[in-house]
Amino acid sequence: MLRPLLPLAALAAVGGCAYPYTPPALSPVTQPAPPATNAPYTVPASAPAVQEARAPVTILVSIDGFRPDYLQRGVTPNLSRLAADGVSADMRPSFPSKTFPNHWTLVTGVRPDRHGIVANSFIDPARPDQTFTMDSDDPFWWNAAEPIWVTAEKAGISTATMFWPGANVAWGGTLGSGAHPVVEGGTRPSDWQQFNQAVTGHQRVSAVIDWLRRPAATRPQLVTLYFDTVDSAGHSYGPADARTTQAVADVDARIGELVQGLAGLNQSANLVIVADHGMAGTSSTRVIALDRILPPADARVFETGPYASFYPAPGRDAAVRAALLTRHAHMTCWAKANIPARFHYGANVRIPPYLCLANDGPGGAWAIEKTAPTKPREGGNHGYDNEAADMRALFIANGPAFQHGKRIGDFDNVDVAPLLRDLLRLPAGVGLDGDDRPFRGVLRR
Ligand SMILES: [Zn+2]
Repeated sequence: MLRPLLPLAALAAVGGCAYPYTPPALSPVTQPAPPATNAPYTVPASAPAVQEARAPVTILVSIDGFRPDYLQRGVTPNLSRLAADGVSADMRPSFPSKTFPNHWTLVTGVRPDRHGIVANSFIDPARPDQTFTMDSDDPFWWNAAEPIWVTAEKAGISTATMFWPGANVAWGGTLGSGAHPVVEGGTRPSDWQQFNQAVTGHQRVSAVIDWLRRPAATRPQLVTLYFDTVDSAGHSYGPADARTTQAVADVDARIGELVQGLAGLNQSANLVIVADHGMAGTSSTRVIALDRILPPADARVFETGPYASFYPAPGRDAAVRAALLTRHAHMTCWAKANIPARFHYGANVRIPPYLCLANDGPGGAWAIEKTAPTKPREGGNHGYDNEAADMRALFIANGPAFQHGKRIGDFDNVDVAPLLRDLLRLPAGVGLDGDDRPFRGVLRR
């Protein structure tokens, strides 16, 4: 089901980066210009002369780091209208409340402990000389759980991904050996793009609309779309900052463009708009300095921030255990086998032997760092307890499959992939951690 990405003539650099992507040329059905204000888009009084009856398409949108309460800031006319006309909820991320683990959970219905993307960076005992990073596309790291676009492609449903973590992986394939190894086998979306932050939100939306302009035979039926700017602003300035609110407003305008573009094509769509996690405010006044707890030579500190993970140095396990597994003022530490069951985390071989989780609650979120900060800093982060209120993630569903004006209770993000299967009329998944129960009362049958 693989199609060539783009003809060579279309290859162009975007924003100075060598990246095989160019904004799609405008066809006679012209794209709307980005809005000058945040006024909601209105559907044109008369649709263009495209009167072909189109089956609804499923569009999964991720707005990275979008906390549900951002909808209360008065800058999201488009998202707020989709929520009011559709179904909305505060969604609970999986632990750890990080980007890659949760994006993979959203499209697999499996928790990080089982799907294997256990953090944004980790190692595997089977590959001791390698480290997974957010650039890793060797199927070895990803193959434990099948993403929805692979399930769909296998069922003959065409898919297209305008960015999503893991969407560039030839899922199920095997990386060969040698100086220039290539992946053999595997399945990717019919259309996909290598992630590049320089591709603007407007370009991303235009690419999606251009895919949907195709004739039915080559038009995708499942599309993903990803926005990173709300998360970036949240990290840099903190969730309460006006610049984060501006990023929220900007992405809302892109959602307006998407809705307008769909209306222009007379294309009905089931939109499932999610975030991977929320955002907590952080400060250099709330830092736990590890060098005051554990001599640096005693352990390799693999990750720091909202949580820290540790590989003890040879012969130092008892010392690490003694230093960590005691009471600390603003964090809790566990050996991986003793992480509380509600986190569903600790069985995977890719999780380091010890984990410390910083507090996130009244009084603010703490951060675990190797040393005390030397300069004052305010910002934001995520990765905390997935039950924490400020780790909650956006969920909005709107389209012909959904009832109007429904608010549903908090649910775990493992239930999103089963919902997508329903929308695509795929059979219920086998061995998933989630199911479609949260949505059964709000789907139109
Ligand atoms: Zn994220």
